[in-house]
Amino acid sequence: MISVLAIIKSTLVAFILLDYTGTNNNNNLIFGSQTSAVYALGSPTNISSTNNEKNYHPISNSSQSSTSMSAAAQKTIKEICRKPPRHWVGDAFHVYPVFANKAFTSELSPFLMFDYAAPKEFPPEKNPNYRRGVGQHPHRGFETVTVAFQGEVEHADSEGHSGVIGPGDVQWMTAARGIIHEEFHSTEFSKRGGIFEMFQLWVNLPSSKKMSKPRYQPILAKDIPQVPLAIVGKSGEDDGGGSGSDVCTSTVEEGYAKIIAGNFRGTEGPAKTFTPVDMWVVSLLTKQKEFELEFVEGHTTLLFVQNGSVEIQGKTLDLADVAIMDREGTKLTIRATQKNTSLLVLSGEPIDEPIAARGPFVMNTHGELQQAFRDYQRGTHGFRHFSK
Ligand code: MN
Repeated sequence: MISVLAIIKSTLVAFILLDYTGTNNNNNLIFGSQTSAVYALGSPTNISSTNNEKNYHPISNSSQSSTSMSAAAQKTIKEICRKPPRHWVGDAFHVYPVFANKAFTSELSPFLMFDYAAPKEFPPEKNPNYRRGVGQHPHRGFETVTVAFQGEVEHADSEGHSGVIGPGDVQWMTAARGIIHEEFHSTEFSKRGGIFEMFQLWVNLPSSKKMSKPRYQPILAKDIPQVPLAIVGKSGEDDGGGSGSDVCTSTVEEGYAKIIAGNFRGTEGPAKTFTPVDMWVVSLLTKQKEFELEFVEGHTTLLFVQNGSVEIQGKTLDLADVAIMDREGTKLTIRATQKNTSLLVLSGEPIDEPIAARGPFVMNTHGELQQAFRDYQRGTHGFRHFSK
């Protein structure tokens, strides 16, 4: 949501160069809300515009739907990023820039940036003409994925899409060659006030798709499949020997996953992605069981704690912590240490290309960033301000 925070207020007239490779949390990676954008001059780079959208369909990895616990290697934790300080994106989104100084690095590819707006109460807005949020700002070269948990986000963009995302709904917006959008609390939510909670994830596009046509996928909560989890049990009861453990399927009271994108135990999520991406919201409702997650070997895998806490390999993760897993291995055993724990699980095929990120644009080279700012200034390649 919320990208480009500061830009917002000023209709984006002047840009300042901001280098996101910095490690300063004050960079406001938020919602992509880089506080300032870039004004870069330089010689244009040739950008070939390709519209051949060949959507990637989530892979069905046969090993993923396996129901038996094989001897497949367990994934291990590479690093834990603890909850960073929060900051505001506009006056609507009080977010943890969860990836902190790992944002926009190849280590997390294809994931770029993640802003989590933890539950926060907003009073009813008395002025009916006032809107909390971020006004029109551009994006190019990647996708923004917004998931509302509580409250409502109202979106509109230069491609003519608009809508309200409510609890459990997802908006998967492919900025690609260029889009201008705005992100606000919905009018209704502003009027009545209440608890607001959401996140926005930025997912990179491969160079071959960065200049493709923008796309908008509104995904309603009711269309997101809910799948039981695999519970790790010690077998060895009667069948003696064997691998010593087995998995069975959880009840809805014990836990489940909502599959937004990718594949989970044989069920595919509704979001179309350009490269393989799994996005699951995993609810661990009991502390009494160990659950097993399964991933595709070689993918970047991240676990983010949205609520409660979870133990992974003897380490405890709390609210807004992220575990970055080693890419090797396919299985992971987790256990909630609080009831009603909720995780966002991300796993995706790394895009092995250079990342050049400035403000609201994510390209492969500095020259392409310069071109993006030039196109935005000129209002070409899809960068059009809009009125509703
Ligand atoms: Mn944005």
